[in-house]
Amino acid sequence: MKADLDKILFDSDQIAARIGTLAQEISRDLDELPDDGEIVLVSVLTGSVIFVADLIRQLPQKLRIELVTVKSYPGQATASQGAQLIDGIDGSLEGKHVLIVDDILDSGGTLNLIRAELSRRNPASLRACVLLRKQRPSAMATTCEYIGFDIPDVFVVGYGLDFDNYYRNLPVIGTLREDVM
Ligand code: 5GP
Ligand code: MG
Repeated sequence: MKADLDKILFDSDQIAARIGTLAQEISRDLDELPDDGEIVLVSVLTGSVIFVADLIRQLPQKLRIELVTVKSYPGQATASQGAQLIDGIDGSLEGKHVLIVDDILDSGGTLNLIRAELSRRNPASLRACVLLRKQRPSAMATTCEYIGFDIPDVFVVGYGLDFDNYYRNLPVIGTLREDVM
């Protein structure tokens, strides 16, 4: 499976190190919030599951997790088809401190959609965290408080990110060889 990669952008040590510093930053900010509201992490399925699993174990705060499903890359298509929120959130977000966690910020459609949906539920605060952000104008223009790595505008897989639902279990992040796409 690793042989299908063209180039490795980040190995597991680099990912772990960056998540460590990112978690410290998030944790510090969470501690500064008024402690009237609960902390709720909203993980965007499916790509963010590995990231969120590693991230939350570095956050000592008492928190809850909710899951949302957004489809923007149906099947094998690699061009964004526009984001669509499939699943909602069960509990109320009123007065809570909400942190959206996603794998990658590309066009910004996914994050903008989720942020708009969640802000309607009157959270006390609403922030977003992505592991990767592509260096393209629409991504750079999208509000996102925490960013793991900025990457070139290329299609990447691994560490939760898929191609046709494969490669999520790769421990590294990289680009695919053209002949396997
Ligand atoms: P956006 O809505 O910002 O265009 O795209 C965000 C979503 O598209 C991400 O949550 C992710 O699921 C998917 N996506 C965007 N770029 C990539 C990429 O390079 N590789 C993979 N595997 N998924 C991507
Ligand atoms: Mg996604």
